[in-house]
Amino acid sequence: MYSSGVRRLRAAGEHAAGVDDAGGGGATMAPGKRKTGGVRRQLMRRQAAYAVRSEQSAEREQMSAGVAQEMFEHIEASRNALFGLVRLSRLDVNQVCQYKSASKPCTSLAECNENFREKTLLQFAAELKRYRIMYALIRSGADPSVCPEIPQGLDNVREYVQSLHSAVAVWITLVVCNGSTAAIHSERDARCQICSCSILPIQLIPCLHVVCSACFWKHAVTRSVFEHVTCPIPACGSNLRLDGEDREENEQVSLNASSEESTAQQSKQKWLSLPPELPAKSPKNKSWIRPMSPAARARWLPFSSSALCRSGRNQLLWLAAEQGNRLLLVSLIEAGVDIDAVNDAGQTALFIASWRGRVECVKVLLDSGADASIADPVGILPIDFESSDWSGRNWLMNAGTPEEDLTQKQFMEWLVDPSINHASAGSFVLDGFVPESVLTKIDLILSRLPVVAPCKSESLHNERAFYCDASGFVSAALVRAIRQAAAFLGMELPVTGVFAQMRFLIYEHAGGGLPAHNDLAKTDPVTKQRSGFTFVLYLSDISKGGETVLLSSVSSSPEVMAMIKPKRGRLLCFPHASPHEARPVIDTPKILLRGEMFA
Ligand SMILES: [Zn+2]
Ligand SMILES: [Zn+2]
Repeated sequence: MYSSGVRRLRAAGEHAAGVDDAGGGGATMAPGKRKTGGVRRQLMRRQAAYAVRSEQSAEREQMSAGVAQEMFEHIEASRNALFGLVRLSRLDVNQVCQYKSASKPCTSLAECNENFREKTLLQFAAELKRYRIMYALIRSGADPSVCPEIPQGLDNVREYVQSLHSAVAVWITLVVCNGSTAAIHSERDARCQICSCSILPIQLIPCLHVVCSACFWKHAVTRSVFEHVTCPIPACGSNLRLDGEDREENEQVSLNASSEESTAQQSKQKWLSLPPELPAKSPKNKSWIRPMSPAARARWLPFSSSALCRSGRNQLLWLAAEQGNRLLLVSLIEAGVDIDAVNDAGQTALFIASWRGRVECVKVLLDSGADASIADPVGILPIDFESSDWSGRNWLMNAGTPEEDLTQKQFMEWLVDPSINHASAGSFVLDGFVPESVLTKIDLILSRLPVVAPCKSESLHNERAFYCDASGFVSAALVRAIRQAAAFLGMELPVTGVFAQMRFLIYEHAGGGLPAHNDLAKTDPVTKQRSGFTFVLYLSDISKGGETVLLSSVSSSPEVMAMIKPKRGRLLCFPHASPHEARPVIDTPKILLRGEMFA
């Protein structure tokens, strides 16, 4: 139950460009509808995930001997019931405990010592290969470097394994667990071949080098989470694997080299054999967890159920380019992908990798024949990001700092006092700080973007256009406006940066609006910074209807805390958790640009 929910959220997050599964936002409640048990449980899981991430571990309860014994018994019996995120987030999951198995009586002193050895829940689950429980523990903050010898764990290991995909986190924990068992039973002197200590030696596969736990993790945590995990001995550097694990490695794209066609063309031929979209009733993702090395996961991902259609494959392509996941990129090109396909914001994988500075991915894409001449909708080329002086040649950037429009009245107001205890505290609105010269360029940007029609199945009545501010033009203008407003008022404003992905909403017809809801936080894939604010920049003047309303709650009869009329150049910012709605449009068109900001 818990696990399948987590996997669904993770899978959705991977395809939605960094939308977080936790953080307390995003629940749309139909007016008058009570919270169901499912929604409440989901909220509790989100809060638990947040507590784990923000390391509120000081508040975790110590497990009593009885509780620990019960948990160990459940691991042994492979029962998942006690390993829900909400429960585990309240327990000190890194406690070292003694467990006496009732089903394994000792027949000798050595066996007795072995059976009574103190260990963590995670170590025990790893010994018994209880993958799902292992992942539940890791997600709840279990640290695979904790053991009786190192009760506090090693630096950065917990954060590192939590940033890994579930299958990879389980895999690396098994590499350590199996390796230490192998070292104990090895005939050889089990000393670290780097630092010569004998604390927790691990024998690695395939090179059979022995390193201590500290040397192993110190090396592992410095590496990209998408790359091979390697032997820390510099002269070796073998790609590690579990005993019996497939040794095939795909370092280079190796499509039929003798063919006349380029790698990109061959890859596209394979991609064309896929259905455009998945059938409506596609088989559900299996909810079991299989341990996979980063390379094995990269090989598997293009054949996972959501990637067995053209759109799913390309989603992975853009994701790999953005994250700098070279192994996945290579594996996708092998499996079949449209290498020059553009995403909703009109960017190719080569553009995304160049913009994000993913040098390795840029190289793989160019070597495979990606088209470097495809610009984004505002005319920026992938190669522009290689030089520092390109912006002067671009129509969007070449005007320098925009002139202030002195005819406009400048105005700034807190909509909800930042010091009160409410989800909307700190909401504010600015007028006249985004100059007309900037607004005109934003209009031009919109005119160059493909417009996405509203979905028939959705209740939304607006058209949308996705914009990625790769040049930083809009972000800079918004931050400048907010900084000027802060100086104007002589106070600090809570917003310092803007997420590059934004969208235009266009209400062409009367009646369109949005029911009460709150927004989701996003995490920047490069800086890992989390967004806290939603911004709305209105681009059209509306005299009737279409107001944005901040509400006291998302309940059926909320109070209005603030009502903001759409006005060209008006910038509205509010915390994601702030309940808000969009009133039905009367005058048209209502046009706005919205996105996320961070503090
Ligand atoms: Zn060592
Ligand atoms: Zn080695």
